[in-house]
Amino acid sequence: MSKAIFLCAISNINSGTCNEDCKFCSQSVKYKADIERYIQKPIDAIVEEAKAARASGALGFCLVTANKGIDDKILKFVCDVARAVQAEVPELRLIACNGTASVEQLLTLKEAGVKAYNHNLETAEAFYPTVCTTHPWRERYETCENVNKAGLKLITGGIFGMGETQADRISMLEALKSLKPTSVPLNFYHHNPALPLSPNPLTTDEALGLITLAKEIISDADRIMVAGGRELMFGARQSEIFEAGANSIVIGNYLTTQGRDKQSDLEMLKTLGLEVAKKV
Ligand code: SF4
Repeated sequence: MSKAIFLCAISNINSGTCNEDCKFCSQSVKYKADIERYIQKPIDAIVEEAKAARASGALGFCLVTANKGIDDKILKFVCDVARAVQAEVPELRLIACNGTASVEQLLTLKEAGVKAYNHNLETAEAFYPTVCTTHPWRERYETCENVNKAGLKLITGGIFGMGETQADRISMLEALKSLKPTSVPLNFYHHNPALPLSPNPLTTDEALGLITLAKEIISDADRIMVAGGRELMFGARQSEIFEAGANSIVIGNYLTTQGRDKQSDLEMLKTLGLEVAKKV
């Protein structure tokens, strides 16, 4: 892995409308978390976000929808957004994150300019029924296989700190490795009081150890990304995630939580002598 840090920004182009019951997700309608909810963000607003992301050094721009999977309406919307962003900010590498998807749907996204697809395994197969009862883990794995079949780059990772055991974490990392992802987003559960899970019990040292473990196990991945929960989990020790093995971060806000301001992250990288990646 190179020293350059890959920056990725995310846009929740549809928010808080999912009928699934994932206990870690404030976008589920079941838990009534206090978040913004809308069916479709206006495309011109998404294009403005893309321009701001690129201006901050982001190379990846992820179009996220909050549903179990893609239907015709979502597919058309994501394709329309992808084309609009590509026309205005062609330097950005477009990523889609729209849940369960068939090879055919993924090929349609590819035609619209999407280069990579993000679908997380979230946790170990054995632990998954504890955090979600409305769909099986295997379906998540199969969508990741479809991404590979469609010839898109696969981005898949998970969440730590939901009550899983260390054996569950290793099981998830082994499953991720078997899918040969290009990038592995590691999220650290950010508790919302509306959700039924207990707050994240991990210490910062344990979380840093998990980044190192992910890098060791999924050694073929181009990027180990620290995504959601970074600010809460690492606090003043943010910079240690790079020594631990991360070479990618999400810049700006997350789907339903605020991130650090972009400038603070850029200054942190400069202070550490790390470059912002200029190409994929
Ligand atoms: S399927 Fe995705 S969007 Fe829906 S509740 Fe689960 S994690 Fe959230």
